[in-house]
Amino acid sequence: MIKFLDLKKINEQYKDELNEACSRVIDSGWYIQGTELASFEEQFAQYCGTKYCIGVANGLDALTLTLRAWKELGKLSAGDEVIVPANTYIASILSITENDLVPVLVEPDPQTYNLSIEGIKNATSQKTKAILPVHLYGQISPMDEIMAYANSHNLLVLEDCAQSHGAQIANKKCGNWGDAGAFSFYPGKNLGALGDAGAITTNDESLATTLKALRNYGSHKKYENLYQGVNSRLDEIQAAMLSVKLKYLDAETQQRQSVAKAYLEGINNPLIKLPTVVEQVGHVWHLFTIEVEDRDRLIAYLTEKDIQTLVHYPIPPHMQQAYKGVFTGEYPITENIHNNILSLPMGPVTNIKDIEWIIESLNNFS
Ligand SMILES: *Cc1c(COP(=O)(O)O)cnc(C)c1O
Repeated sequence: MIKFLDLKKINEQYKDELNEACSRVIDSGWYIQGTELASFEEQFAQYCGTKYCIGVANGLDALTLTLRAWKELGKLSAGDEVIVPANTYIASILSITENDLVPVLVEPDPQTYNLSIEGIKNATSQKTKAILPVHLYGQISPMDEIMAYANSHNLLVLEDCAQSHGAQIANKKCGNWGDAGAFSFYPGKNLGALGDAGAITTNDESLATTLKALRNYGSHKKYENLYQGVNSRLDEIQAAMLSVKLKYLDAETQQRQSVAKAYLEGINNPLIKLPTVVEQVGHVWHLFTIEVEDRDRLIAYLTEKDIQTLVHYPIPPHMQQAYKGVFTGEYPITENIHNNILSLPMGPVTNIKDIEWIIESLNNFS
């Protein structure tokens, strides 16, 4: 079976270094909020080009705590509207509702699957206070236009960078465009830990300070609590794993880009719609998604040929039981994407013979 993503094979490449890093933490006798976290935060901030990086327990907390911090800082209040793409992974929307803010779902650009400036303009109201662009599947949203619009309308921007580590426009990386960027280091993400982890990047000192308190019981100083915070810390072991893997992120991205190039050049079947690349450098190919009307039949056909595929995602957030009755709008573009989208095997260790077999199989599908 050609695996959709071979995590074991990816991490095996770095096994000696990962073991060494793990031993270092065991031997240190210090397991939470120590030098490994501080070191990873510094390296990741530098990688993204931001002043600050704040490690947290996962990507959802990175999003949720940033919005929470803006509430604590008086920049947002309950009932404020946040513009978010309707076709995102549910985490982006959960972070908004968890904070008693109001998600305004916007249909994406059907070519890029990301927010468009027109969509944002049409969704802006008196109550709009923030935009939450999601760089879906690894392609960065039009951040230059979004920031110009946000600045002229006094809106906060929180980038959901969970799928887009290292994606950039004009040499400026995601996480450094908005007021803050939220990252997930879930094992299957482009930069993946060996467990759960996440982080926020920002250039805003007051936001960074507030987040550091919120992730640790709202405490900025031992036994003193400024906020009713949470426990959402990135532990030393995962920080050490991430420091090892960060060194290889750009090389892995290049491998993903060459797989994407082979797919884009090789797949030539009128039944299959290929993804649109706005700017080559802007895409880090977390996922390579195609669209096909007869998806179930294509999945069965590929399974027969030993090719594993996945659907990201089968049910849009507005149709989930969790949000029953909450969203009353019509989202035909989003529903169409969810009905037709299919993710092909993609990763930094995908072998070229396998890619050739996948392309040949797709081209023979009729
Ligand atoms: C994975 C993901 C998240 C959540 O990250 P976790 O670390 O799993 O909490 C948020 N947003 C998007 C777009 C994601 O793909």
